[in-house]
Amino acid sequence: MTDGRCMKCRETRTMKDEKEVIMKNGMKAMSGLCTKCGTKMFKIIGKA
Ligand SMILES: [Zn+2]
Repeated sequence: MTDGRCMKCRETRTMKDEKEVIMKNGMKAMSGLCTKCGTKMFKIIGKA
């Protein structure tokens, strides 16, 4: 499980359906959905 900040809830939430993604700028991030409202969330992990 990964925690991230939900922009909609404006709180830290646990993500569901997490997957690792590489962002355009080459940063590695986790993408998932807020368990509370279903909004897409990102958490930056670091450089790929
Ligand atoms: Zn949320």
